[in-house]
This record gives sequence, C-alpha cells and structure tokens, in this order.
Amino acid sequence: MNKLKSYIPVVISLIISFLIIGVGYNSNNDDAVKEVYKVYLDGKLLGAIKSKEDLENHINREQKDLKEEYGVKKIYVPNGIDIEKCLTHKGTILTEDQIYNKIKKKKSFTIKGYVVSIVDSEGKEIKINILKKDLFDKAVKKVLNAFVDSKQVNDYKNDTQAKIETTGSLIENIYIDQTVTIKESYISTDELIFQDETTLTKYLLFGSLDKDQEYVVKPGDTIETVAFNNSLGVEEFLIVNPEFTSSNNLLSVGQTVSVALIDPILNIVVEKHIVEDMDKQFETIEKEDSSLYVGTTKTETEGVNGVQRVTQKVKYVNGEAQPAIITNVEVIKEPINKVVLKGTKSYIGGAYIGGGVPATTSGMWGWPTISPYIITSEFKYRWGKLHAGIDISGCGYGSPVYAVRDGVVVRTGNNPGADGIYAIIDHGDGYYSIYMHMASVIARSGQTVKRGQVIGTMGNSGRSTGTHLHLGIYVGGEPYRGGSPINPLSVYR
Ligand SMILES: [Zn+2]
Repeated sequence: MNKLKSYIPVVISLIISFLIIGVGYNSNNDDAVKEVYKVYLDGKLLGAIKSKEDLENHINREQKDLKEEYGVKKIYVPNGIDIEKCLTHKGTILTEDQIYNKIKKKKSFTIKGYVVSIVDSEGKEIKINILKKDLFDKAVKKVLNAFVDSKQVNDYKNDTQAKIETTGSLIENIYIDQTVTIKESYISTDELIFQDETTLTKYLLFGSLDKDQEYVVKPGDTIETVAFNNSLGVEEFLIVNPEFTSSNNLLSVGQTVSVALIDPILNIVVEKHIVEDMDKQFETIEKEDSSLYVGTTKTETEGVNGVQRVTQKVKYVNGEAQPAIITNVEVIKEPINKVVLKGTKSYIGGAYIGGGVPATTSGMWGWPTISPYIITSEFKYRWGKLHAGIDISGCGYGSPVYAVRDGVVVRTGNNPGADGIYAIIDHGDGYYSIYMHMASVIARSGQTVKRGQVIGTMGNSGRSTGTHLHLGIYVGGEPYRGGSPINPLSVYR
C-alpha cells in the first residue's frame, strides 16, 4: 500500500514533463516537421501552403466573374498546376492569397468542360472546347439540317420513312466520316469555349467565327445571280440565309443578305437509295429512200422517249452528291425510234454537182455517256470554287465516253493529281470540250472525231471520289488556256 502511494508523484511529474516537451515541440517553427502542400506550376515551385482546400476555395471566391461568364459553379486551378502534400521542417508558408496572386499572373484558371476531338482519315485533328456535352450533338443536328431536309432525317431516325412503291428516296445511313471523341477536361479560360449551339453551329459550318460577309441587294438581283457572283452555290446561299426556302424566293432591293463562304469542319455523310423515272432516249435510224433526192431527208416516224426506272445509291458529303452507282434499271415504256428517210435519187440532167451533203449533225450536241446516267454535280460554285463542268456517273467503270460534237482532238494526257486521264476536243467554232477522270483514252491528239465517236472509257483517275466523267465545255479558247467555262447543260437545252 505504501509502495503504491510513493509512485503517484513520479507518474504526475512524467505527465507534466511530457506536456512541456509537447508544447515546446509545437512552438519551435524552424525545427518542427509540418504537413504542407507544395504548389508547382509547369514543374516550377511557386511556394508552400497550409491547405489545398483553402486555396481552392479562395480561387472560387476571387473568380466570381469567370463563374458568371460561363455560368459554372466552380473555377479550377490552371492546367499545369501540381499540388503535392509533403512533410517539411523548414521554409515559409504562404497564404492562399499570396499563392493565388502568383498563379493568376502566370496562367488562366480553368473550368470543367468537354474537348471534342475530330480526326479525319489523314490524321488531321481539330479540337473544339464546349461547356456542356450535349451541345455538340445539338449543333451537329443543326448542321445536318442545313444539308438535308429535317423531316427526312427525323423519319430516318424514327424509322418512319415511307417505303418506295414506285419512285422516291430513302435515307439508308447518316454518319460523320471522321473519328469524333468527346472527353471531359479542365479547359483554360483563355481558350475559345463554346457555350451555345448557335455559335457552335456557325463554327462547324464556316470553320471560323469571323466570316460575316454581307451583300446589299441591287435592282435586278436574284438569289441565283447574287450567289454566283459571290462564288456561292445556290444551296450554300440558302444555308447561310435560312430565311429563304428556295432559289425562287424574291430579294428586295436594299435588303442585306449573307454571302459568307461555307467551309464545314465535319464531313457529314448521308447515303440514299433513290428510285427515279428517267427518259430512255430514242435512237435515230436512217433508211435509204429512192423516192427522195440525194441530200434530202424526211422524218418517217417521230421519235418518242421511253421511260426507265433507275435505282441508284448516292452518297452525299455535306450535301454534295458523290459519284453514284446504278443498281437496277427497269424499262417501264420502250422508246419509239425516230426513222429518217435518206434520199438516194439522183438529180435529173446532172443538176446535182456534188455539193449536196446529207443533213449534217454538226452544231448539234450529243451526250458523252451511255444512258441511264446521273448528273451528280452541276456547273456551280462549291466552297468558293467554281465546279467548271458537270459530273456524270452511274454508267459504270469502263463504259464508253463519246465526243459531244464533231471536232479535232487537240490534247490528251494524264494529270494524276487533278484531271486524271483526259482529252480535249476543238469543235472549230470557238467551242472546246474536255473529258476528265477517264480509265483510258482512245482518241489520239490530232485525230478528227465525229459526234458520238468513242474517245475513251469512264473511270476514276486523278482527283476523283468514284467512277464518273467530268465534262467541261469552254468557249473562246482551250480549257486552262484562255477559254471560259460555260454550263455544259446549256448546250443541250
Ligand atoms: Zn467534276
């Protein structure tokens, strides 16, 4: 019992001494081991702070304006900031405000958003920052609606497209021909961050935000002329001026319209299945007739075109048709061939001196391909460049290409990066025709050719996205050598 009592003071003194050591330990700043957070920016130490959380809260309090600007709840440290917890027994500790000011001077703070990465087939990447994830889908939908009828797109998505009984078209597929990934990230507020779908749509369509070219309508202007004079296709004009629904809409003098050039960032592909009734052209058959004089002709039967139902697969990239493929042809009505009687009767008494020639077909234009065919691209401006001819497809690789008029072949060649295998014919009265992207050229330079004569075969050579023939017609000189392109379809009207 006595023994136990004598221990008590010893225990108490031990407790006291522990307390004294403890206090001493805490009050000695220089030698004590402390838990601090070291703040690094791009690998360089900015200083140490007591609490990571306090710094984050401080940033949030100070950056009210950024929160308002982007409508977000939280502002984060800049990219490149590293905060490491460590134990140290020396060095000064900075206040949150001191570190905050150091950071602020060097780099912009970040917000949480999404980075859309768009990579094309050649590996080229475009990055777009957006605030909310669904913004991208909404803008893509708007871009799509600029190129394809929105009702048709909705029917495709809801699987409510009407079946084709006779003729019509169906969307078979819609996709973006690029690899698109969306990742949540901390985005620096000194970068462009899209917050609304209208601005993002504009960016996706024009490839930039500062293309706001405008035009004031003058007397006599039509949508077609304003578009053409400003290097725009009519469809493009309607895309940049959605208040107009058709090229037949009237413009009023003094009205301001947009003539901004489209340069889409996305490649939106729409694959369509189309069934269309087309003319099946009649042929002209000549029959000799001894009751008519030489040099005279007479139509015995007028030609009447028939009807053929043509099924085709067409791929549109941003609304532009690519070379089409014809998958089926069904004759609905056979054409009635034109029969022309050709005189063989000689003039009496030698009155005929030899100058009489059969009715000539020169000056008449023939079609350069077999039928049926599909014109997938017309003579028009596209992305600010003139498509100086028409693209004809659907006839198949290796099908014949015909001279459109009598003439002399002035040049043939192969230009792999552009026209591919081509031929140019001089028609003698200032008109020239050029045939591009052929699989082979049969006509030789200097050769005289007749309208309808095979000069080559249809192919996919040069800068081409599928089997097609590009036909160009020039006046006043050879193509690329002073001639001016005209709309080839105008000579057939
Ligand atoms: Zn072309």
